[in-house]
Amino acid sequence: MTNSNILIINMKNLKLFLLPLIYLTIIFGGTPLQSPSQFLGYELGDKFTFHHDAVDYFEHVSTVSKHVELIPYGETYEGRPLIVSVITHPNNKESVESIRKNHLIASGLMEGEKTKNPLSVVWLSYSVHGNESSSMEAAIKTLHTFADINNAEQMKWLEKVVLMIDPCINPDGRDRYANFHRTTANVIPDVDVKTWEHREPWPDGRTNHYYHDLNRDWSWQTQKESQHRLKLYKKWMPHIHVDYHEQSYNNPYYFAPAVEPYHELITPWQREFQKTIGNNNAKYFDEQQLLYFTNEDFDLLYPGYGDTYPTYNGAIGMTYEKGGGSSAGVAIKTSSSDTLTLQDRLDHHYLTGLATVEATYQNSERVVKEFQTFFKTANSIQSEKYKTYIISNDNHKNKLNDFTDLLDLNGIKYGRLIKKTQMVNNAFAYESGEKESIKVMVEDILISTKQNMSVLTQVLFEPQTAVSDTLTYDITAWSLPYAYGLKAFATEKELLIQEYVSPIAPTHLEFLESGDYGILAKWGSLNALKFLADLLKNKVVVRVAEKSFTHNDINYDPGALFISPQGNEHLGKTLYKIIRTAAMKHNPDLVSISTGKSSKGIDLGSFNFRVVKSPRIAVLNGDGVSGGNFGEIWHYFEQQIEYPISVFNSSDFKSIPFDDLDVLILPNGSYGFLKTEVSPSAQVKKETSASMLIKQSPPPVLLNWVNRGGRLVVIGSAMKKFVDQKGYGLVKYESEVAKKEAKKNDEKQQLAERGKKYSDRKRKKLIDNTYGSIVKVEMDKSHPLAFGYNDQYFALKLEKTLYPLLPKGWNVGTLKDPDSHIAGFMGHRIKKKIQNNLMFGVHEAKKGSIIYIADNLLFRSFWYNGKLLLGNAVFIVGK
Ligand SMILES: [Zn+2]
Repeated sequence: MTNSNILIINMKNLKLFLLPLIYLTIIFGGTPLQSPSQFLGYELGDKFTFHHDAVDYFEHVSTVSKHVELIPYGETYEGRPLIVSVITHPNNKESVESIRKNHLIASGLMEGEKTKNPLSVVWLSYSVHGNESSSMEAAIKTLHTFADINNAEQMKWLEKVVLMIDPCINPDGRDRYANFHRTTANVIPDVDVKTWEHREPWPDGRTNHYYHDLNRDWSWQTQKESQHRLKLYKKWMPHIHVDYHEQSYNNPYYFAPAVEPYHELITPWQREFQKTIGNNNAKYFDEQQLLYFTNEDFDLLYPGYGDTYPTYNGAIGMTYEKGGGSSAGVAIKTSSSDTLTLQDRLDHHYLTGLATVEATYQNSERVVKEFQTFFKTANSIQSEKYKTYIISNDNHKNKLNDFTDLLDLNGIKYGRLIKKTQMVNNAFAYESGEKESIKVMVEDILISTKQNMSVLTQVLFEPQTAVSDTLTYDITAWSLPYAYGLKAFATEKELLIQEYVSPIAPTHLEFLESGDYGILAKWGSLNALKFLADLLKNKVVVRVAEKSFTHNDINYDPGALFISPQGNEHLGKTLYKIIRTAAMKHNPDLVSISTGKSSKGIDLGSFNFRVVKSPRIAVLNGDGVSGGNFGEIWHYFEQQIEYPISVFNSSDFKSIPFDDLDVLILPNGSYGFLKTEVSPSAQVKKETSASMLIKQSPPPVLLNWVNRGGRLVVIGSAMKKFVDQKGYGLVKYESEVAKKEAKKNDEKQQLAERGKKYSDRKRKKLIDNTYGSIVKVEMDKSHPLAFGYNDQYFALKLEKTLYPLLPKGWNVGTLKDPDSHIAGFMGHRIKKKIQNNLMFGVHEAKKGSIIYIADNLLFRSFWYNGKLLLGNAVFIVGK
């Protein structure tokens, strides 16, 4: 790395370092700008910098450099600070705030008069995946280069560019990796990938504290880090955004342009400028004879990424991937027998950062102009397809509130009809998938595609993802009306909309007073679930209706909660305080009542009200368990419904105090540790076959506990472990029709196989794949597992393993129709097989039950409508 212009400047700086420092110190008496190595006490690349040290350096730079401003924007779940540095030209007299406003005004995103020609805003985000860890080191080096006013070239670029550097999007994961590596690394790095310092243990540092992938969370903002960052992002709306990553250490470097599929709404300019930047990156890489590739592997579709989300917000959003990652350590021997060092990795990321700023500087006027055009188009030209999305006011008010919260986070505007009502023909109904004539009411929520967030709105609402190719990196369906389980429509008609007032809160502000008969609360919203969790946490005994009834002219579906002073004597007067506090906090749909007599259906003293007491709930994590799904469950209990959950590591499985547990959740996973060890005497007898020493069935302790009254919740791939196991009631997919079909397919496939092309191998795999499509599930809503749901539930189908209906259990949610596939990509072979399969079921085993949930309900924590079902599983289902 010696013949780059950028680096020559840098080397010069090092040599000339002392002179300006002394000069500055003498003149101003201030602290001089220190290089990273002076500040940290080691050369970048020697080891992984801890996050707090990087933050200290960023603070130091902003303290001594007048043109660098540090913006703290929040903190992580583990309490680490989140920061961005904004770098402007040293001669700039304007405040960062007025530069920002001027940029927004010029882009049409803010009202007002622009004061001068706007600058281009480049935002570089590093280390979103904590164990792709060279990029935070690159951020430190990049900051220093732009902070040092002696770097004439970079100072020239700052005349037209404002640079924003977020050194680490995911500090918790980054430090998890840095801690691991600092703990295990040899003084002289061992380059053998099989050695300890290259083998990051479970859980790795890719994700945040709750094992959520922050590079899947931009559009949903389920995690604290994303919520804080997006607030700042939306305030700035940069022209260019780069998300820094690492890929396998044998792959050299990937930068834009991305490969197909692109979402069809990505503009020609966005496609073109990715290439311009990519060409400038390539120029520097060519000069140093470095390897790289573009236009392969990384597409632009799913909206949760750090490249797509900025793209749907008008920016040029890009992913850069250096070879490295978790196993690369400080130095590693690659497959081509080169040694790849941390120094190389950070230098190459540094190089693309500089090249990106330079390319933006060279095209600044065009960058600014095209960004303006993006929003002008969004506000003036109607989408060719649906022009208005209609969310019916029939949906639960609490659900509508949570839904509009998500729109607010994304800056998507919504409103109401100007007229009182309006008939609309040929509206697409999400629930039926048919065109219907509907009457739009003034109370409905309307979202127009003519707004700043036009593209993002279309991407999030369109029933079918508009995709140029099916060979994608991620899920292909996420349409919000399905994810939220909303009665909703899409119309090609433009409806006139006025500004929206938020829905009225449903709580009746009367609470149980001593002397009242009790409280009734409707079931069916996340608010009701949070309310129940709060009561149970406080040891309140709650009754759940198993049948519907009418009380005081209000209709209650099964699942309604009844809280009576009877059975809660142990709480004395605090019962009323607990209910009041929980109701104020969670806003459920409740009413205080004065009689136990219903006007229709069951009375409140009926045996059809089942008593629910606070359960002790546990979940497994560790080797053999999916960290992601465990994290979603952990986050659900701790951050969403705020109910205590005990976490047991798989290595401690044998010491789990089963008798103290009411519920055990098994997340997705391979569960290799769940096997029965045969006693030594048995081993002697069966010695002939070594494979028989270990039975691949779950240990008896688990089924014994269920039979004694335990509730086992088995999710997604964890179900494989229980197929055809005695006592668990789950059987293999093997209907006669299916067998015949499979045979026919196999024969046909064998013939077809002979003509297969090597280059099609990735595409071939897709025929059995269903990763991330939407399916329609028929619900037996009379079963407690489905309380609060409608006859249909739209699920995200992630697992390709299918299960037949439970022969002896309750098949609560099933894929009934052959046309259960609703949206997104599903391979043609699996499409033929999805009829009559189990999605949600309950097998009753003596005193306890086993609840099967065939696909992860909490996927990335964004599938809102699945959350209540897990609540039913852990609190409501009983025997
Ligand atoms: Zn990554």
